[in-house]
Amino acid sequence: MSDKELFEKLSYSRKNVYESISDAEKEEMISLCDEYREFLDEGKTERECVEKAIKMAKMHGFSDIDEKTDLKAGDKVYKINRNKNIFLAVIGSEDIKNGINLVGAHIDSPRLDLKQNPLYESNDMALLKTHYYGGIKKYQWTAMPLSIHGVIFTKDGEKVTLSIGENDSDPVFCITDLLPHLAKDQMAKKMTEGIEGESLNILIGGMPIKTEDVKEKVKFAVLKLLYDRYGITERDFLSAEIEVVPAFKARNVGLDESFIGAYGQDDRVCAFTTLKGIFAVNNPKKTAAAILVDKEEIGSMGNTGMLSAFFEMTVAEMIEKLTGTCSVTTYNTVIANSACLSSDVGAAVDPNYESVSEKRNAAFAGYGMVLMKYTGARGKSDSSDASAEFVYEIGKILDDDGVIWQTSELGKVDQGGGGTIAQYVANLNMDVIDCGVPVLSMHSPFEVTAKSDVYMAYRSYVAFYNNR
Ligand code: MN
Ligand code: MN
Repeated sequence: MSDKELFEKLSYSRKNVYESISDAEKEEMISLCDEYREFLDEGKTERECVEKAIKMAKMHGFSDIDEKTDLKAGDKVYKINRNKNIFLAVIGSEDIKNGINLVGAHIDSPRLDLKQNPLYESNDMALLKTHYYGGIKKYQWTAMPLSIHGVIFTKDGEKVTLSIGENDSDPVFCITDLLPHLAKDQMAKKMTEGIEGESLNILIGGMPIKTEDVKEKVKFAVLKLLYDRYGITERDFLSAEIEVVPAFKARNVGLDESFIGAYGQDDRVCAFTTLKGIFAVNNPKKTAAAILVDKEEIGSMGNTGMLSAFFEMTVAEMIEKLTGTCSVTTYNTVIANSACLSSDVGAAVDPNYESVSEKRNAAFAGYGMVLMKYTGARGKSDSSDASAEFVYEIGKILDDDGVIWQTSELGKVDQGGGGTIAQYVANLNMDVIDCGVPVLSMHSPFEVTAKSDVYMAYRSYVAFYNNR
């Protein structure tokens, strides 16, 4: 053996996905990503993602668990929580006490929510007040087309679902920004203060009604349009949930179309690949399960976040419908023998900002599925640090299936940090590891992923479901 060969045998280096995939795999990758872009365009809110997931699940033979009194091996079921979570399972042939294989992703993304009393008039323009959701760089949300999505109840209790700004024939909305000519003071501010939260107001109208009886004539005109088109009044906003998101569609990026640029890829890239993963599973040994959760971007709290009892209640329901009963001991055994891939995005090394990454332990776009043994901040705070045993087990499953993967932490140790749902699943006494797709421009209105990584994420989930 030459020294070169010996060095290669003894050392580790990651490789670009394109170095080792076949033409057939490349084709599969491209068609998967075509479908992924459609998923992104149809699911711009957690509610829309759940709706889309139900549609896809039904097409793949899944049915609502609420309609079933008992379950058997091979059954495919889903359960919905408050229109914002979906749990899916393909029942395995082994005793459920051997545990389930779970993949969890989140379907909420950073955005602007309308405040409860949003509409006002200023300088003959009508505007909507917003409150941002999740970690955004506020300056990125001005001067671009925005769409409005959500639900609003009329006084009579009729639920109106809004989606304005997605069709080419729809109008869009926007937040205006200051012209550079007059931005001397603004440009001297810190980036965190250049655009203030209370300046993120959406332009919604400017055509006053001719009347002497009403002072706010533009607001009056907007209210009239809202009433005529949707039957809603200003009071109805008090109970509404309305989200403002970028109005543009997902696009291929680059001359070679190797990337996807779109809003909301954190974490819909993992939600989509998780769905495609579980749809590819038939008659597994262990029960395969997937959960898409809400509220991750604001801490996973609440009855639709990962900290909700929804997951535990659904597993208990599944055990009961399979075996006729679910004791605490049985439930605990199932959970202790289960494993979870917390599927969430990682930070890809950005050629424009290399200095925030420690490149030996960073993720690179195009280098495959990224496993993150731990996330968190500073001294691994708020991290669930997966065990060596479990990281080995998952790594081996991926290797045996020819999946290209890499490991990473979020960035340099002292540079910042972040969390995922992993810690909350781990607290249930389950083995969990974070894994997913490296992203550029994370949390921006136009996040970028490499198609090869999207494909490898999908391949990872299929391998996990079939081989653990
Ligand atoms: Mn995420
Ligand atoms: Mn995020």
